[in-house]
Amino acid sequence: MVTVNKNYLKLPGSYLFSTIAKKVAAYQEANPDVQIVRLGIGDVTQPLAPAIIDALHKSVDEMAHAETFHGYAPDLGYEFLRSAIAKNDYEARGCQISADEIFVSDGAKSDSGNIQEIFGTENKVAVCDPVYPVYVDTNVMAGRTGDYNKKNENFDGVIYMPCLESNGFLPELPVETPDLIYLCFPNNPSGAAITKDKLQEWVDYANENGSVIIYDAAYEAYITEENVPHSIYECEGARTCAIELRSFSKNAGFTGVRLGFTVVPKDLVREGVALHDLWARRHGTKFNGAPYIVQRAGEAVYSPEGKAQLKEQVAYYMRNAHTIYNGLKEAGYSVSGGVNAPYIWLKTPNNMSSWDFFDYLLENAHVVGTPGSGFGAHGEGFFRLTAFGSYENTQEALRRIKAL
Ligand SMILES: *Cc1c(COP(=O)(O)O)cnc(C)c1O
Repeated sequence: MVTVNKNYLKLPGSYLFSTIAKKVAAYQEANPDVQIVRLGIGDVTQPLAPAIIDALHKSVDEMAHAETFHGYAPDLGYEFLRSAIAKNDYEARGCQISADEIFVSDGAKSDSGNIQEIFGTENKVAVCDPVYPVYVDTNVMAGRTGDYNKKNENFDGVIYMPCLESNGFLPELPVETPDLIYLCFPNNPSGAAITKDKLQEWVDYANENGSVIIYDAAYEAYITEENVPHSIYECEGARTCAIELRSFSKNAGFTGVRLGFTVVPKDLVREGVALHDLWARRHGTKFNGAPYIVQRAGEAVYSPEGKAQLKEQVAYYMRNAHTIYNGLKEAGYSVSGGVNAPYIWLKTPNNMSSWDFFDYLLENAHVVGTPGSGFGAHGEGFFRLTAFGSYENTQEALRRIKAL
């Protein structure tokens, strides 16, 4: 008799985005003439930059001829892409990461979900609250947590690090020492960024305690402030305690193309085992490489034209972020994020719950956002707006919110 992985049954239904979709559809049906503006999306909307499209066309043509056809890609990714990453994302920022410490993948969501496989199930996991749900759910599936607690909306056995207004939406070193620490900066959902000094404290803490930090830097391209690190390897000692996840989704619009990478330094050793070897084994066994044409598109991200075009694309979204941030401020809201991230995190007015504010905004401004409580218990009373819409829609949304 087949049994199922009972850990999956611990997961409460993920109703956040389906509930939003249902509520919006119902409202639109009842009010067919209303123009709804969506600032809840976590997906990019601008087309791929010309340099990337050119690289795609060129490599597609290569696939049409036996002499230039490419089949399975190397396990770790093509050398041309890994070298471009090592040079531009690391060497240029003074980080010592070599091309053979980079594992090219189909995106940071898979990597952030799969990385826990190389660690024992008895490890204690720490996450920020609110949090990108993948880190928690994949550890639940693996049996690294206890049951879900409806009352406090937490899983037993997980260390939750509240990110609150009082601590600038940054986690504090936990009382109980964790083994695996998931950090994401600039942060989704709060848009908070961490300074290099603050991140250094985490690196020191992890090295002192033998913990491993899994650092999700998917929003690195949105950093505008000087003292905010683009990589955890800008911190001293990170090579012995940190794995970094990167994505081409948010900096280059690859959400529908799929490309990312994970960095596992060779100095990262636990129980005498190099984690690089374990991840290489896992990658080689379970993953057959990102497509050649997509890796060529990724290479174009680092070309002079690609860089210039993507700088403009990120600036386009950040203009939206400023519009939202400043508009909300003018309307009297308490806001954060939006400076080093495409996310604006606002405190709901008059102690409204996140979902009450969702309804209020939908019904009165016809604007859709994301309730903070959907990202964790400590997101309650907060609300996320994203800068990934068009400039026109963003302006219109803020005009309406200000008029409330
Ligand atoms: C969007 C996002 C990613 C990127 O995921 P991909 O699978 O590369 O598209 C990773 N982490 C966070 C926190 C994100 O919001």
